[in-house]
Amino acid sequence: MPLVVQKFGGTSLGDAERVRAVADHVARTRRQGNDVVVVVSAMGRTTDDLIRLAGDVSVVQPPRELDMLLTSGERVSMAVLCMALAELGVDAVSFTGSQAGIITDTTHTRAKILEVRGDRLREALGARRVPVVAGFQGVSTDHDVTTLGRGGSDTTAVALAAALGADLCEIYTDVTGVFSADPRIVPTARRLGRVSFEEMLDIAASGGRVLALRSVEFARNHHVPLHVRSSFTWEPGTWVVEEEPSMEQAVVTAVTHDTSEAKVTVVRVPDTPGLAARLFRALADANANVDMIVQNISVHGTTDISFTVPRVDLPASLQVCEDLAQEIGAGEVLADDAIAKVSLVGAGMRSHPGISATMFETLATHGINIEMISTSTIRITCVVRAERVEDAVQALHRAFELDV
Ligand code: ASP
Ligand code: MG
Repeated sequence: MPLVVQKFGGTSLGDAERVRAVADHVARTRRQGNDVVVVVSAMGRTTDDLIRLAGDVSVVQPPRELDMLLTSGERVSMAVLCMALAELGVDAVSFTGSQAGIITDTTHTRAKILEVRGDRLREALGARRVPVVAGFQGVSTDHDVTTLGRGGSDTTAVALAAALGADLCEIYTDVTGVFSADPRIVPTARRLGRVSFEEMLDIAASGGRVLALRSVEFARNHHVPLHVRSSFTWEPGTWVVEEEPSMEQAVVTAVTHDTSEAKVTVVRVPDTPGLAARLFRALADANANVDMIVQNISVHGTTDISFTVPRVDLPASLQVCEDLAQEIGAGEVLADDAIAKVSLVGAGMRSHPGISATMFETLATHGINIEMISTSTIRITCVVRAERVEDAVQALHRAFELDV
C-alpha cells in the first residue's frame, strides 16, 4: 500500500472546523487505499503567541525552557486531530517528536535531526492505525525536548517520509503552491506545476516562504518527492522533484525577495591575511547567520567588507564587528537595516548567458540602485533599498515574461 506523509501547517489547523476538515481529508486519503502518517504544526498563531507570552513573563528565557514551552503548541494539534479522526471512525494515535523517535543534537531552539527511529510509527501503521506526529520537535541526545527552528514541521514531515520510505510527502498550507513571485506583490504570478529540488532550494533560501529551507535540503538528499498544496481548496499544487532531462528548463523560474536582512559594513579593514577569517569566525561563534559577503580590492592597504545577516542577528553582529574593528585597527562599522534582496532563480540560467545583464538593465531602467550582487549557478541576487523591492520584483517578473 502506498505510504503518504501529510503535513498540515498552522492555518490549515486554525480552528475546530479546520481541524475537522483536515480529519476528513486524512480519512479520505485512507479510503483511497493509502497508509497515512500525519505531521501537525501548532494551531493558527499559537507559536507566536507562546513566544509573546515568554517575553511578557521574562527577558531571561533559557533555551531549554523556551523549547519546552513551544513544543506544547504541536501537542494540542495532534491530540485534537486524533479526536476528530476518532469521530470519523479512523483509528489514530498521537506521538510527540520524542515518542516518534526523532533524535536531535542538543542545540535548543534550532536543533538538527541526527536520527529518526520511527519504530512506534511503523508499529502503528502495522496495526492499521494513523500516527499523528507533533512537528517541529525532537528529543536530544541528552534526553531533553528540543525544537527544530521556526517552520520546523516541514522538516519533521520530510525526515519521517525519508525514514519510513514514504512514496510522497504532501505539505498542506494556505496557498495553492509555489509561485513565480509573491502573488500579493505580483497579482499575475503563476503557480509553478513542477520545480526541481535545486530550484526550490534557491527559492526557499532567497525568500520564498512556502517551504522551510532545511526541509528542502532534506528532501533533496533523501530523494523524497514533495507536493506543496492548499488545505483550503485541496487542488493539486506544486511538485518538487528530482530534475528530469525532459523538464522544461525555464531560464528564469521565479523572482523572489527577502526583506528580513540587514547589511553591515566594516570600513578600512587592513589588507592582511587572516582578518576576514577572524571576523567571520567571531560572527559564526555569535551564531550570526551571515548570508552575502562582499569585499573589494584594497586601496592604500585597506578594504571595506560588507555582509548581510538576518535582522534579528544584527545587534549581536554589530557588537562582534565593533569589538574586532578596534582590535585590528579597522575604521567604523556601519549598519543598514533598510535593505532588501531581490533574486532570480532558474535552472536554465546555467546555459543562458546575459541573464545578469538583463536583470541589471531592468533595475537601471526603473532607477533602482544595486548595492550588492551575488550569484550561484542558478540564482542571481541583488541588494536594493527596501522601499524599492516591490517595484524591482514587479519589473523583473515582467521583463522575464513570467506573467500568466
Ligand atoms: N509551529 C512552528 C512555527 O510556527 C513550527 C511550524 O509551524 O512548522 O514555527
Ligand atoms: Mg510553516
